Amino acid sequence: MRVHNFSAGPAAIPLEILEQAQAELCDWQGSGMSVLEVSHRGKDFVACAAHAEELMRQVLGVPDNYRVLFLQGGATGQFAAVPMNLSDPGEVAAFLNTGQWSGKAIKAALAQGVEVQVVADEDASNYTTVPTPGSFTIDPGTRYLHYTPNETIGGVEFGYVPDPGDTVPLVADFSSSLLSEPLEVNRFGLIYAGAQKNMGPAGLTLVIVCDDLLGHARPETPDIFNYAKMAASDSMLNTPPTFGIYLLGLTLEWIIARGGLEAMAVRNRVKADLLYSAIDSSRLYHNPVAPDARSRMNVVFTLSDPDQGPGSGSGPGPDPDQELTDAFVAGAAEAGLVNLKGHRSVGGIRASLYNALELEDVEVLVTFMAEFEAAHC
Ligand SMILES: *Cc1c(COP(=O)(O)O)cnc(C)c1O
Repeated sequence: MRVHNFSAGPAAIPLEILEQAQAELCDWQGSGMSVLEVSHRGKDFVACAAHAEELMRQVLGVPDNYRVLFLQGGATGQFAAVPMNLSDPGEVAAFLNTGQWSGKAIKAALAQGVEVQVVADEDASNYTTVPTPGSFTIDPGTRYLHYTPNETIGGVEFGYVPDPGDTVPLVADFSSSLLSEPLEVNRFGLIYAGAQKNMGPAGLTLVIVCDDLLGHARPETPDIFNYAKMAASDSMLNTPPTFGIYLLGLTLEWIIARGGLEAMAVRNRVKADLLYSAIDSSRLYHNPVAPDARSRMNVVFTLSDPDQGPGSGSGPGPDPDQELTDAFVAGAAEAGLVNLKGHRSVGGIRASLYNALELEDVEVLVTFMAEFEAAHC
């Protein structure tokens, strides 16, 4: 029996993909071995990795002058690899700070000796907003502008691509929203993402980088974090995360079969709208995020006793009620709705609605929320 899995990451993987991986696990493509057991340099696996890259290029529309790299170390590894590859110590990089993940990227850049300029910081709203377009300026000579399109913990998402000006490359941590909607890759200098939210299993890190940015790494950069060296070896300088690359290929085939990123965008919009409207029309549930910055991927909400404050579902609402929250999580788990607990640093509830979640999963959640509210208010 499969549950409704709202995990933020590692996250749900479509059942069809798991079943295909299961069906061919013990004898992959007639080799008499699983994909886990073959050499990464053998022709079968080299073809498997080339296929995954080709599908990624096709699905996302990656231009020819960009390299697609299959790395390891997670997005956290990229927090350090980006400054190592794109700047020298003391050079300036600009950051938009919209919450915990952008905050971690900033700290890691500082640790690499980067002169960090935080050109927009949403601390005044307690990180429930994104900067308004055009509200920040980037000095010429800045090595890059870094931002986090979707803040997985805060449930905050940019509805637009920031403009860094003509000469400064844009770098984005797309860990929790890559492949959730179409993207104009040529507006970015570099995109990175861990696979475990929306693209497959943990252990694979995707980097998509414009050729112009290759070849400027600091000399002490380890080879496995050096984009030019990884690109020159087709990401096979050492053993790549083979199973993750294989599963990414299956995931991209699944996306194509479902109509590509346009179809994903529609599905994801419908799912998120259903959940936000359930929150907004309730007296129990509250989402603190500004309407134009609400994440489609990670929907956060708190529960607070309606008799303790104003009865509107949007806005932070009265103080969260821990007992009600615990009862909600426990009751939901009994109904087969799991991994709804908010990030340990913020509490509350978080429902992650990545590509693998079906509308039906969200319908079951919304029905449970209404029943829980009726029983407790
Ligand atoms: C999950 C996540 C990370 C951390 O990813 P790791 O692969 O664990 O390093 C970084 N940024 C964002 C936006 C995330 O969602």
